[in-house]
Amino acid sequence: MSDTIHLLPDHIANQIAAGEVIQRPASAVKELLENAVDAGATEIRLLVNDSGKALVQVIDNGKGMSPKDAENAFARHATSKISTIEDLFQIRTMGFRGEALASIAAVAQVSLKTRRAQDELGTSVEIENSKVTESSSISCAVGTSISMKNLFFNVPARRNFLKSNGAELKHIIEEFTRVALAFPEVYFSLSSNGQDVYHWDGGSFKQRAIQVLGNSYQTKLVTVGEQTDYLTITGFVGKPETAKKTRSDQYFFVNRRFIKSAYLHHAVANAFDGLIAKENFPSYILYIDVDPTQVDINVHPTKQEIKFEDDKIIYAFVQAAVKHALAQFSIAPSLDFSLDASIQQLDAIQQPFTTEKANTAASQSLYEGFTKKNQAHFIAKSNSKQDWKSFFTTLPSADNNQILHDSESYIVKPSSMGLYKDGSPLQVNEEAILMQLHQTFIVAPSHSGCIMIHQQLAHERILYEKFQKATAHPHATQKSLFPVVLELSVSDAILLEEIIEDLALIGYEIESFGPNSFIIQGIPADVNAGNEKNAIELLLEQFKHFSGDIKFSKREKLIRCMARQMAIKAGQALTQKEMHALIEALGECDIPNITASGAPTFVEFKEDYLNGLFSK
Ligand code: ADP
Ligand code: MG
Repeated sequence: MSDTIHLLPDHIANQIAAGEVIQRPASAVKELLENAVDAGATEIRLLVNDSGKALVQVIDNGKGMSPKDAENAFARHATSKISTIEDLFQIRTMGFRGEALASIAAVAQVSLKTRRAQDELGTSVEIENSKVTESSSISCAVGTSISMKNLFFNVPARRNFLKSNGAELKHIIEEFTRVALAFPEVYFSLSSNGQDVYHWDGGSFKQRAIQVLGNSYQTKLVTVGEQTDYLTITGFVGKPETAKKTRSDQYFFVNRRFIKSAYLHHAVANAFDGLIAKENFPSYILYIDVDPTQVDINVHPTKQEIKFEDDKIIYAFVQAAVKHALAQFSIAPSLDFSLDASIQQLDAIQQPFTTEKANTAASQSLYEGFTKKNQAHFIAKSNSKQDWKSFFTTLPSADNNQILHDSESYIVKPSSMGLYKDGSPLQVNEEAILMQLHQTFIVAPSHSGCIMIHQQLAHERILYEKFQKATAHPHATQKSLFPVVLELSVSDAILLEEIIEDLALIGYEIESFGPNSFIIQGIPADVNAGNEKNAIELLLEQFKHFSGDIKFSKREKLIRCMARQMAIKAGQALTQKEMHALIEALGECDIPNITASGAPTFVEFKEDYLNGLFSK
């Protein structure tokens, strides 16, 4: 028998290796942007065609490459960033493994144009299947332009794995955003199929955060900033009201590298404990800076995971820093923040702020642990949480809907329409005096006992059916006299694009207005003008919550969200007339007894049942 092992030819080996680094157009985007940052660029432009499948091009004004470097850059393990193994533990650049360009060159057609400031002429290099096919001198601007064309042209199986253009573009925007957040001092632009998507001027961290999250965050960010000898944390968390049902807008950077860390996420979520509803996620952009010797970034192919020398201390630090920031914001409302009404009602806000509390808020004992490294074991675990909790005695979530839906304390429910053989209990005498209990429940006499209606859920059902009918016969729109401009975050803008047509059926006339911006030209005839911006933002939030639910069509989800959002809320006082109108409208519904998601809208107490309660 002959031997069976053979050495793979270079181009196959490179393609296999490329699989780790370049999974999709967005992976190339990340690598090319990071190279531009490493080259000291102050302006970086990203151009994509066909969501990066046809072209990913990054143009920078960084230091450029010499003619020889330009040819060598695409060889495996070609890097200018480390030369000894010790360097590996002192890394301050994004790249260091010298495999990104090699990987890209193995799976796409690449052209490079580059020039250093000291060279009169630049270099142009063409590469295909990892081989330089052409190299020449050209005149070009200082800096580097790399184009990656036809990704996976030579690996059709992997090309087939690419997702829809929408999905791939979303990944690209995600990577673009991460690098842009890490380097706010750099100008970044993105254009897709020749259309401008973003251009973000260089500025402060806060300015970049707002460019990314949208202008509405101008007043919704709480600044985090703590410094010790061992590590520093800076950045922002969204005020509790910005918490979302989805995990978008959560960013951790360690030494300016975006990382994914469920562990650190948990630390932030913990700091928000009691401030936002359990099922919501806080938004945050946090930058941790630590001595590079304290982290190992070489544990993951795309360096999105890292290992800390002492991760308990980082956890405790992140948690304490976020708590501290939130405490300052909540306890000193007059300084620079206007508080959400639901938070203002909390005992903690209304009680005087004593020195004792100030000390607790500063979590002194926690802070002592961070001045030296390897001291996580000194951190007292439980006490800080107790103290913290006492500042927020009730759950300040404004999302009444969710709470109501989660409640399972309904006792008597009309379980099906079959119950109404002798006529609907919702036929209430016009003259009857109705009672509103706790500004939430309406108690009304019915012909066979009494009914108790949940005003919010009942209204939700009424609106749901109304919108359902409206999508069959488009709804009346009232043109806005003063069209409102809506600025959204990247992901919200994509979402809104997706549902814009369905919103039109319900009566929202919204047009796209430059990248991330929309203009609201008209709103449904029965929505109060003046609140349209808020309404759309809320709608997007709720819609995201639903998005994972594949049971429902987009339209169904939208209708449900709209109904939920526009329903009168529990806690709102109603007049006799309004209560009567509500019951009448509910009675006209096809399925009056439950909301679309299945919560009862009213319960009926039959006379027999009431009598039974009083029998001996
Ligand atoms: P790494 O970034 O890990 O060093 P890459 O394969 O990404 O490896 O890049 C290889 C080398 O090519 C880099 O070390 C750098 O010297 C050079 N290079 C890549 N992109 C640029 C750029 N935009 N400007 C200047 N030099 C670059
Ligand atoms: Mg690199």
